[in-house]
Amino acid sequence: MARKPIIAGNWKMNMTRVQATELIEELKPLVKDTKNEVVICVPYTDLDVAVKLCEGTNIKVGAQNVAWAEKGAFTAEISADMLLELGTTYVILGHSERRQYFGETDASVNARLKTALAKGLKPIVCVGETLEQREKNRTKTVIRKQVMGGLAGISEEDLLNTVIAYEPVWAIGTGKTATSEQAEETIKFVRSVIAKMFTRKLANKVRIQYGGSMNPKNVKELMAMPNIDGGIIGGASLKAGDFSLVVNYDK
Ligand code: PEP
Repeated sequence: MARKPIIAGNWKMNMTRVQATELIEELKPLVKDTKNEVVICVPYTDLDVAVKLCEGTNIKVGAQNVAWAEKGAFTAEISADMLLELGTTYVILGHSERRQYFGETDASVNARLKTALAKGLKPIVCVGETLEQREKNRTKTVIRKQVMGGLAGISEEDLLNTVIAYEPVWAIGTGKTATSEQAEETIKFVRSVIAKMFTRKLANKVRIQYGGSMNPKNVKELMAMPNIDGGIIGGASLKAGDFSLVVNYDK
């Protein structure tokens, strides 16, 4: 069965509730006819507003992290139950900004992933190399470690509920996109690592996105690659017009 493309906006730490309301109202009619899956991953404080505004539409709402613990003394963390109660569907895990600024590791991503899956949230697990790692020809070693560490110990069923996002760190927010060949090559490699961990059949079913300065201009070329199943969109998801053009890349 063909893998359904999934376009997910990552708003990062942008958009107050008032701004979120405006953006979503503008976005709704622009993406309503797509066959692709549409997700917006918003700040925690926008979740309830976003879920309410997206009710009855084809836009799903995601968070940008979740705690590994169920509850308790974990100041500033947000639990899976809290997200689910608000109607959250997806959750981004292991984004490079979390790894870079907040000490996330493959082990913490794996712990968060297991909790998310056990609770019924749909995770988007991010992996990606830095520029230095790419220049030192370490891309495959880094990606293999992140995929194996991040996905360690999950079941086959859980794997199929998980989306992977390949996001080269050097392409995030820089305007520097990986070429479609670079993205395809690395995503194909991610699929081969998953095939070794699980089976080739399962690896062929998992959706793997590209992320890193994806925008209305480059989306078509990237999405033409056989292994690229969608995108995580940062900057371009903050404007309804741009994000909708990415979502509607196949129109
Ligand atoms: C991201 O934040 O995951 C991302 C891909 O950002 P940008 O599109 O701005 O590079």
